[in-house]
Amino acid sequence: MTDTVHVTDVVLFPNLYIDGEWRPGSTGDRFPVVDPSDGSTIAEFAVASEVDCDAAVEAAAAAFPAWSATAPRVRSEILRRAWEILTDEVDVFTEIMVRENGKSWPDAKAEASYATEFFRWFAEEAVRIPGEYRLSPAGDKHIIVTHHPIGVALLITPWNFPAAMATRKLAPALAAGCTTILKPASETPLTAAYVVDVLERSGVPKGVVNLITPKPVGPAVSRMLAHPAVRKLSFTGSTEVGRDLLKSSADRVINTSMELGGNAPLIVLPGADLDIAVEGAFLAKMRNGGSACTSANRFYVHESVHDAFVERMTERLAAMSVGPGLDRRNQLGALVSVKERDKVADLVDTAVAEGARIVTGGAKGERGAFYAATLLIDVAHGSTINATEIFGPVTAVVRFAEVDEAVSKANDSEFGLVAYVFGEERQAIQVGQRLDVGMVAINRGVISDPAAPFGGTKQSGLGREGSTEGILEFLETQYLAVTV
Ligand code: NAD
Repeated sequence: MTDTVHVTDVVLFPNLYIDGEWRPGSTGDRFPVVDPSDGSTIAEFAVASEVDCDAAVEAAAAAFPAWSATAPRVRSEILRRAWEILTDEVDVFTEIMVRENGKSWPDAKAEASYATEFFRWFAEEAVRIPGEYRLSPAGDKHIIVTHHPIGVALLITPWNFPAAMATRKLAPALAAGCTTILKPASETPLTAAYVVDVLERSGVPKGVVNLITPKPVGPAVSRMLAHPAVRKLSFTGSTEVGRDLLKSSADRVINTSMELGGNAPLIVLPGADLDIAVEGAFLAKMRNGGSACTSANRFYVHESVHDAFVERMTERLAAMSVGPGLDRRNQLGALVSVKERDKVADLVDTAVAEGARIVTGGAKGERGAFYAATLLIDVAHGSTINATEIFGPVTAVVRFAEVDEAVSKANDSEFGLVAYVFGEERQAIQVGQRLDVGMVAINRGVISDPAAPFGGTKQSGLGREGSTEGILEFLETQYLAVTV
């Protein structure tokens, strides 16, 4: 059993964090955390039992009255301190993600900065929680509107952005005055443990942040959602699991925020500047090795630019250096597991069986969970790969002739998280406004920003994270009527 994990000069405890204390689970069971670039075990992380999950909920409930009454400025300064520590320790933060998630060093470093920024942004929002005071139209009363922290919040996060998905929830929850239980993906608990360690060092009082890793996860989460103290569920993950959690939350009408799956269209219009389109498409596809809910999944390219776009995108993809993220020169790391890598390989095989052609890539690595940067052409709209969230480094191109056709195909999905449009600016904005998605990137490949509202329409989710809206997800509105 591994008692501690050494990353550069930081020692991590692969344990639960409950009521301000790092502890093994009550059963003593552990599960392996694996480096997907070589299959080695990095740590044995504690399994949280029902007793541990109950203890985490009780600790968060006990800490709520004092934390919710803590002055916003004090909460803000704790979050600011977390931003400072993470900024100082960016290489440690990066290395932990590289090792347990497999992503490349540049991808992990970009995530570390993005994740860190949520603490700075919400440190600033903590002292700007809005309210209202006005006279009713009839003149009979004053309408006073205030916002109060909801209570104990359960935060469930995926493996693909193990840091940013945790900080995008923890920072607004703590800024709002909620207490929290973080349940990270079992593939990436060390990043979560590190973020919690930083929050402890920043001065978060005991019980305000708790970390649990139950196995199996479904019954443990259902049990916590049934606990009367839990008032909020903020979930990021697949639409499939999100749907189940919405059903379980219905029993106690728990307030939910859902950041779910995507199947992002990327449209290259006639007249697009190909330098900008190829650079943007490359980022939209390859950021995080394609394992992003925002990853461009369906490329609709106008026939007038199709061949030139494919040629230039192929050159960019084929030139990528692929290998372990600890070698900082590599641009494409491993997928999170051999299972995820095989899912991507199967999707490519199915695409070929359905008529697509491989222009570059299409091969597994010899060792580790690697898959080559791949480009497919002659992909049919509605084919399996076009209708599935690929979550890997595969560009699947569909040719189109009419702009209206591209818009209707882009909208032909149960998902509505994000879209990318490349073209002459005015036309690109007009097309973007016709897309049924929560976010549209115009002539650029990266859209996420802590200061912007992140979230989707249709089955991509409910609610928004980041921006001024992110903190409202953790606040209840109260209206007081006061006779004039
Ligand atoms: P997942 O749904 O399998 O798991 C997400 C989290 O839910 C993990 O912590 C997992 O342990 C937990 N979980 C799994 N089964 C559960 C259950 N029955 N009850 C309660 N919790 C359960 O997703 P994943 O494979 O880790 O992540 C990939 C998915 O996340 C993709 O679909 C991606 O689009 C989505 N995602 C969305 C966003 C967004 O902001 N919209 C961001 C990142 C990832």
